[in-house]
Amino acid sequence: MLPEHFVLITNSKGKIENIIEEKDAGENIQQLQGIITPGFINTHCHTELSHLKNTIQEKTGLVDFVLNIVNNRNANEENILQAIQNAEEEMLQNGIVAVGDICNTAFSLQQKKQNKIAYYNFIEVSGWLPQIAEKKNSEAVALAQKFSKLQQPCVIVPHAPYSVSENLWSLINQQFHHHTITIHNQETKAENDLFLNGTGSFISMYKQMNIAHNSFKPSTQNSLPSYFHQLCNAQNILLVHNTFTSITDIQFLQQQHFFSQTQIYFCLCPNANLYIENVLPNIELLRANHVQLTLGTDSLASNHSLNIVDEIKTILKHYPQIAITEVLQWATLNGAKALAMDNNLGSFEKGKTPGVVVLSNNYNAVKRLI
Ligand SMILES: [Zn+2]
Repeated sequence: MLPEHFVLITNSKGKIENIIEEKDAGENIQQLQGIITPGFINTHCHTELSHLKNTIQEKTGLVDFVLNIVNNRNANEENILQAIQNAEEEMLQNGIVAVGDICNTAFSLQQKKQNKIAYYNFIEVSGWLPQIAEKKNSEAVALAQKFSKLQQPCVIVPHAPYSVSENLWSLINQQFHHHTITIHNQETKAENDLFLNGTGSFISMYKQMNIAHNSFKPSTQNSLPSYFHQLCNAQNILLVHNTFTSITDIQFLQQQHFFSQTQIYFCLCPNANLYIENVLPNIELLRANHVQLTLGTDSLASNHSLNIVDEIKTILKHYPQIAITEVLQWATLNGAKALAMDNNLGSFEKGKTPGVVVLSNNYNAVKRLI
């Protein structure tokens, strides 16, 4: 963080021209109260679920949450589109300039083609039954084509370790090359239970959804080391939630031989974790092991706002020893790198147009300047 006597110079469109000392900056300097930061990067959202705001009960656990989403996500198309429009407006007002957005439908395209926010569209597939893998993959390919047609960057990604069969993995992982691949990772203890010994609440979820699970063989390891090899083609890996990621999981990642070529990012969505499971990831453990962190809001189905500053405030409330400068890097440059947008976003560097946002000193107000 630069001290007060430095001046940020941009052109009228927000392109960074320089950062110089006040004594050299001439006249017409605008003085602002608070912290001037590049625009925020929301690395995990589902804008197409925005119509589910305030409809799902809090703190009932991930399995109940997933069942609720599956049963309630359909709604009147007009309501879905209006909610997406409102969600984007909310993110713009909160200084968000780019979003890693999970897509199961094309509903968000109408909004995205206006190019108000930069999106990395993660076309999400799931299918636990091996026999539906081909069908699920073809549906995802067709959806991805709709995004590509409108020049929206997109890639097909797995939903979660507990919802993607080996067959489906092998259909999708050939196209991971040169992309950022994201996955919901270790969001609940039950995910590790499933891979360790084939028990836990996902077994009852499969039963409730009439999904046979007899083709699944537990690996006797946590979920992350069980599926991670599937991601090794990716350029960047964005692991989302990580609420039950252990030290042995992190050490496993550190030992991977491709670690130096593939960048791994851990996305934290603390307000969604509190909403769904009422737990937080062990952020001290992640920091102590020098993992690269980013921030996400998740969707309005599991959050009261789409505001990166609200995520920052929750982190600082529970981890007051962490400096704001460090968390702001997660919220800006790290997120931009994870979404491969750091050539233009994430920091005040000459030639970039990262957005200019002012965060008040008490973090209660955020304003986009450019
Ligand atoms: Zn999510």
